[in-house]
Amino acid sequence: MKPEEYAHIKRGYALIDMDAVSDNVDAMWDAISDGTRMVLVIKTDGYGHGSIPIARKYDRDERIWGYAVACPEEAYDLREAGCTKPILILGYAFDYAYDDMVRLDIRPAVFREDMLAELAEAARRQSVRAKIHIKVDTGMSRIGIRPDDEGLEFVRKAMSYRDIEIEGIFTHFARADEADKRYACRQLDVFGAFIGRIRDELGLDIPCKHCSNSAGIMELPEANMDMVRAGITLYGLWPSDEVDKERLAIRPVMSLRSHIVYVKDVDAGTQISYGGTYEASGMKKIATVPVGYGDGYPRTLSNRGEVIVRGRRAPIVGRVCMDQFMIDVTDIPGVTEGDMVTLIGRDGDEFISMEELGGLSGRFNYELACDIGKRIPRVYVSGGETEDIILDRRSIK
Ligand SMILES: *Cc1c(COP(=O)(O)O)cnc(C)c1O
Repeated sequence: MKPEEYAHIKRGYALIDMDAVSDNVDAMWDAISDGTRMVLVIKTDGYGHGSIPIARKYDRDERIWGYAVACPEEAYDLREAGCTKPILILGYAFDYAYDDMVRLDIRPAVFREDMLAELAEAARRQSVRAKIHIKVDTGMSRIGIRPDDEGLEFVRKAMSYRDIEIEGIFTHFARADEADKRYACRQLDVFGAFIGRIRDELGLDIPCKHCSNSAGIMELPEANMDMVRAGITLYGLWPSDEVDKERLAIRPVMSLRSHIVYVKDVDAGTQISYGGTYEASGMKKIATVPVGYGDGYPRTLSNRGEVIVRGRRAPIVGRVCMDQFMIDVTDIPGVTEGDMVTLIGRDGDEFISMEELGGLSGRFNYELACDIGKRIPRVYVSGGETEDIILDRRSIK
């Protein structure tokens, strides 16, 4: 069935176009070098799109090395769902999780000496070797060892643990999404030089070297290395306004839809929503949409944002409430209760992008996608058919 035919999701749902995910992965694969693989960055539940359906789709795909998430719990969800590829934790993993991580083949990003000792112990208890990726700070100043003599000593120390296997080493670009690539290139040089020192001075060639995020995939082919970390572009969204959008044929994966629940005519002077911040200048036709900031739809879109009804844009009037907001449909003929409302995505010739709403609401496209609430079912569609409907990790199809 098509999503529109499911009555119980009409209040609001996020349509996840799995064909767009496929096309985006193919586009990135075509853009990177031979010999480079991809790790799918699916932290924050796949930037709000749902990590499990995406990981399941790629669990047997040779192009994909594995998945990257932010914390062990996100990795456990993937394992529980039966995903078998390697998982990398991009942030600091606290030591309570090391036994489980070793058991479930989840690699931490390592940059503190106490992590080495604790991981080695966890591995010893299970008589296996703990695989790690060493994180190097080349200019993000967030986490990571410094690429200097002390950093080299850290790598030497890591090599000294029999229970630890240094599978990877990586760094992260702070400014690869800017038109001016000087900072990113400097980071890449520093990373390359440090890898060279590890090879020359410690005799170690670490198999999995990586540094590119989506912006790097798009615009820094020289930074491909052994794998790239595909984040925002996996979802068909842009790393920034400054990247050259001609370089990668991606398209947005998520649309956000609702349905009008009430239509009324109001007289001139009628105030709408909390605070009366909108007052009708004449007779108006006002429609109520049953989605609000409780669903992650930003309150800062009050009197600013637009939605699409019957292929035409309708402005938000008054404040966005927790669970509802109002739109002016005076100029759109025939609007009735039950009409579909597109908050993000395409309807006819009109299109509202995550980027547009991010800009209008003073947020950021990444943030907006991540924040689409847990109350909104994710509807997975492929070839026009609904594959699954997930609400808070349960299928409600
Ligand atoms: C989130 C993240 C990424 C992905 O970044 P995008 O800009 O979404 O491609 C890559 N690497 C690290 C370390 C991250 O934290």
